[in-house]
Amino acid sequence: MTIWKKRSPKSDNPPSQPPPPEKPSLYVMLKKEIAPLRKQGEAPAKVPASFGHYFCDLCNSQYPVEELRQCSICGRWACGNCWMKEYYVCNSCNGIAKLLEAKT
Ligand SMILES: [Zn+2]
Ligand SMILES: [Zn+2]
Repeated sequence: MTIWKKRSPKSDNPPSQPPPPEKPSLYVMLKKEIAPLRKQGEAPAKVPASFGHYFCDLCNSQYPVEELRQCSICGRWACGNCWMKEYYVCNSCNGIAKLLEAKT
């Protein structure tokens, strides 16, 4: 009797990975402090002459949409250089987070 090994299909790593911010209270404070520039789910600014390229809301460089991430606090779209992986926010919000942290 032959048992066929069932090959499980490779599961793609889902791109969405929402780790909770280190301090939820800080996150809540940021939400209060920062007026969102864009709504969540709103598309980034498209580069007019290109196909599928968008502007990073922080440095205004052009990137394919896969390389941009929307900040969950201010709604800006940030490229890898303008993104704080540790906190999952854009550099702008990270700067404000640092200030808030220093105050408390
Ligand atoms: Zn950028
Ligand atoms: Zn932000």
